Amino acid sequence: MTETFGSIALTIGGGRVETAARFDVINPGTGGIAGTAPDAGQAELDLAVAAANAAFPAWSARSDAELQAACTAVADMLEAHAEELAQLITAEQGKPLAGIGSRWEIGGAVGWARYTAGLSLPMQVLQDNDQGRVEMYRKPLGVVGSITPWNFPVLIAVWHILPALRTGNTVVSKPSPATPLASLRMIELMNEVLPSGVVNSVSCQDTDFNMGAAMSGHDGIAKIVFTGSCGTGQKVMQSSAGTMKRLTLEMGGNDAGIVLSDADPEKIAEGLFWGAFINNGQTCAAMKRLYVHDDIHDAVCKALVAYAGNIKVGEGTREDSVLGPVQNQMQFDKVARLVAQARAKGQVLLGGDAGEGLFFPPTIIAGLGADDPLVYEEQFGPALPVIRYSDIEDALAQANALDVGLGGSVWSGNVDKAKEVAKRMECGSVWINSHGMIQPNVPFGGVKKSGFGVEFGEEGLKEYTTIQAVFS
Ligand code: NAD
Repeated sequence: MTETFGSIALTIGGGRVETAARFDVINPGTGGIAGTAPDAGQAELDLAVAAANAAFPAWSARSDAELQAACTAVADMLEAHAEELAQLITAEQGKPLAGIGSRWEIGGAVGWARYTAGLSLPMQVLQDNDQGRVEMYRKPLGVVGSITPWNFPVLIAVWHILPALRTGNTVVSKPSPATPLASLRMIELMNEVLPSGVVNSVSCQDTDFNMGAAMSGHDGIAKIVFTGSCGTGQKVMQSSAGTMKRLTLEMGGNDAGIVLSDADPEKIAEGLFWGAFINNGQTCAAMKRLYVHDDIHDAVCKALVAYAGNIKVGEGTREDSVLGPVQNQMQFDKVARLVAQARAKGQVLLGGDAGEGLFFPPTIIAGLGADDPLVYEEQFGPALPVIRYSDIEDALAQANALDVGLGGSVWSGNVDKAKEVAKRMECGSVWINSHGMIQPNVPFGGVKKSGFGVEFGEEGLKEYTTIQAVFS
């Protein structure tokens, strides 16, 4: 298959920058080539960092109202090109255009950009008395390096870039080599409404040269905001130590959902499904383990399987596809391995057998316990283990036993009772009777090895600033 999309370049200092080499981006739905991306190296990174540093003084000197207006212009620009960006996401990421797919992702990115534009961190007076006046200012850091994963390429890049810009920082953005196209195009579009050098892009195949590691160690970058796996996040921390960079690390999780004995299986089945299978399970805060009380275990499994059994999996450009393929071969192999190991011991209630190419059907496996890899490893794909419990203390102990903690959920007919359980879960967000519903006004982040720092809302904005106290 030939390249579907035109030649997408890096944007550095406001202009197109071509590289000597390009790499293929695979369309996971067809196995063909969705496009090619520039394979940047140290030279392009140095150029991008220099351009972002050169743009910083004028950008950070802008008034709050000017920064707000510029971020709103970015949101308008993304909205005007929503369909083009959605098509690119589907071609490289695989998710359907329709439903909770690429168009939904772009809609979220536009909404998030607009909401972030409207936030502000005004100066605070900490003291004003006969001892003196103390004002606290939040100042931008400088150049922010953004490193993103392949599951929501545009949405996550917006989560990084917009708060950085809003607080007066400039940006160098690196997309995942699996999904660089929509991100590169998005940054090209942002540059139509932003001054040169304020946002720059550096895609890289990460074979001979590791762009993320080079960014993390770069002297000209003041902060890294990273979203990706736990192992890579730890490498970011190591590479950045020498330069004392500020870090926000949004890493993997293994979210538990706990269904209490008083939940209504029919009522919660749809929410359980989408909590676990949104974006084909390739979502940081998706439900990755489901603990169900003995009294209603079979009824919950039956209702969940009935709902999931009607979900159509297919190529993303088909309007009737509800879920697409797994994004890449490595992830597909991981899901296939975990399912193969789990089926040896558990009961496959739905799915279990790989489809063609990278397609894997929604898979639900019951009868598993704490020592099954599908339970204790992050599958990041369309396979949900169901674990039966009879004592809530035991369910909570199992839910909290892992060294990650991003999200969690409690499902019950009694919200107050559910809240008591929720507060005892070791994770950054807990939902009652839903899972993974993140919002632009609510701080989101992990505990334990899921990372540190938060995104979204005013708390998220603060992460892109440093405090200066002025005494007079
Ligand atoms: P990944 O860690 O493999 O890659 C993430 C990014 O890091 C990519 O751009 C990659 O090129 C880059 N990278 C690779 N080596 C690097 C290095 N040495 N230093 C710096 N950067 C490097 O993750 P992935 O497979 O793309 O994404 C899936 C993972 O991301 C899952 O674990 C998922 O849970 C997690 N995730 C977390 C969140 C969250 O908000 N917490 C959101 C989405 C995904």
